[in-house]
Amino acid sequence: MTDKIIDGKLLQGKILEGLKKKISKLKDKPGIALVMVGEDAASQIYVNSKEKNCKKVGIYCERHNLPKNTKDMELLRLIDDLNQNQKIHGILVQMPLPKHIEEKLIVDAILPHKDVDGFTPVSLGNMMEGNPLIEPATPRGIMELIDSTKIDLKGKHVVVIGRSNIVGKPVALMLLARDATVTVCHSKTKNLGEITKTADVLVVACGKANMIKGDMVKEGAVVIDVGINRVNGKVVGDVDFDSVKDVAGFITPVPGGVGPMTIAMMLDNLLKAKELGDKYSV
Ligand code: NAD
Repeated sequence: MTDKIIDGKLLQGKILEGLKKKISKLKDKPGIALVMVGEDAASQIYVNSKEKNCKKVGIYCERHNLPKNTKDMELLRLIDDLNQNQKIHGILVQMPLPKHIEEKLIVDAILPHKDVDGFTPVSLGNMMEGNPLIEPATPRGIMELIDSTKIDLKGKHVVVIGRSNIVGKPVALMLLARDATVTVCHSKTKNLGEITKTADVLVVACGKANMIKGDMVKEGAVVIDVGINRVNGKVVGDVDFDSVKDVAGFITPVPGGVGPMTIAMMLDNLLKAKELGDKYSV
C-alpha cells in the first residue's frame, strides 16, 4: 500500500538538501522578504513555516509584520523599498490581506524577477506564452509529485478540478506544455464523476473536503490532492483518501503531499530569482 502513496515530505527533504548545498557554495546568500499584514492565525503558521525552512537551507530572511490597519499606500511603499533592496531577491506577501487592501494592486507592484510566488500578471503571462520566468510554487510542486511517479505525460488525459489563478489555471498550462491532453473542471461542470473517471492523472484543487470518491477515479490513475480543509479540527484534502487509495495507482496524502512541495518550490524559485536579480543588477 505505502508504495502508492507519494510522500511529499520525503521529496521536500531531498529538494531542500539540494538547495542547502547549492546555497552553501554561493558568495552572496539569496534573500527573501516575508510580508504579513494583520494577525490571522493560519497565515502566521504558514509564514513561520516558510521562515523556518528558509533558515534551514541558509536563506537570508526578513520578516515584515504590519498591523491590520495598514493602508494600501504604506504596503506599496514597502514593496517599492523591497524591489530596490539588493539583498532581497524574492518578495512573498502572505494572502489573504485584510479586506480594505486591494490584493491585485499589491501583487502587481512586485517586480517580476522578485515574484517568487509567480502570481504577477507578467509571470502568468510568460507561462501562457510558453516562456516561463518564475512559475507558481504550488503548480510546480504538483508537477514534481506527478513526475515522481515516472508517468510519461505525453498524450495522457489529465483532469484538473479547479480554475483558480494560483492553482488550476497555471497547472493546466504546465501540463499542456508537457503535451498532456488537459480538461479543466470547475463548480459549474456537469457530470463531474464521468469526466474524472476518464483521467489518467487527476489534480484536485476545489477546496471541498473529501469531494472525490473512489467511484469517480479510474483504476491506476495518479491522484494529486491539493486541497487543505479543516474538518472537526483535522486537516483533510479534497479527495476522500480512504475510498480513493484502493483504486488509484498513486495518491498524495493530506497533509504531507502538495503542502511541503509548495514550500520546496518556493525556495527553489528564490534561487531562480537570485540568478535573475544578479543578471539585472547594475
Ligand atoms: P479557489 O477557491 O480559488 O478555487 C476553487 C476552484 O474549485 C474554483 O475554480 C471552483 O470553480 C472549483 N470548484 C469549487 N467547487 C467545485 C465543485 N463542487 N466541483 C468542481 N469544481 C469546484 O481555491 P484555490 O486557491 O485554487 O485552492 C483550492 C484548494 O487548494 C483549497 O483547499 C486550498 O486551501 C488548497 N491549496 C493548497 C495549497 C498547498 O500548498 N497545498 C496551495 C494553494 C491552495
